[in-house]
Amino acid sequence: MADDHPHREYTCRVCGFHYESPTWDGGTGSQDICLCCGTQFGYADTTLDGVWEVRAKWAAAGHPWSHPEYRPPDWEPGAQFVQVPDRWADADVLAHKLSAAPLPTMRTSADPEAERAEVLDRFCRDGRLAYFPATRHEWMIVLEHIASGFEPGVMYRRLEVDEVLKAWHGKPALLLGVLIGNGFIENDNQHYWRT
Ligand SMILES: [Zn+2]
Repeated sequence: MADDHPHREYTCRVCGFHYESPTWDGGTGSQDICLCCGTQFGYADTTLDGVWEVRAKWAAAGHPWSHPEYRPPDWEPGAQFVQVPDRWADADVLAHKLSAAPLPTMRTSADPEAERAEVLDRFCRDGRLAYFPATRHEWMIVLEHIASGFEPGVMYRRLEVDEVLKAWHGKPALLLGVLIGNGFIENDNQHYWRT
C-alpha cells in the first residue's frame, strides 16, 4: 500500500490515472506508458515543469487516451485530476482537487466478494455515487450495483430510469450513458431494461 511505501507513487503524475503497480518507485519511473494520457513514466514527468508541459499539451489536444479501449464512457479529466498528487498539480488540477473530496485509499483483495464490498464502500455513500472510480474494473463493480436497482424483465420509461439514477448522481443522463455503454442496460426508442 502507498502508505507503507512513501517513495512509491501509484498514479500518473500528469493525468492522475491510478495503477495497481507503482508508476514511480524510489525516484525511478517504471517506463510504462500511461494508458490514459500516454506519458512514459520516468522521462518528461521527472520535473514539475515537465509534468505541467505534458499536461498542457495533452489538454490542448483534447485529453486523448493513448489506449482508448480503457476509456470509461463519459469519462471526464476533471474527475480524474483529483487523484494527481498535490506536488504535481497545476492550477487547473488544484481547482478540481479543491472542489472534490479526496479519493479514499486504494486497497486490493484476493476475495472477489470482499473486494466488491470494499469497492462499493469506497465509491458509494448513502446510495449515492460519491466518487468516480478510477479503473475500469472498479467501474464495472459499481455499475453492476447501480443496475441491480432495476428489476429484471421490467420495461422502464425514461422518466422512471432518471428517477432511479438521480438518486445516484446529479447527472442521470451521464450515468445512463455509462450503463448503456457497458451493457448493463439496453434500450429501444421507448423503453429501457436491465440486461
Ligand atoms: Zn497519465
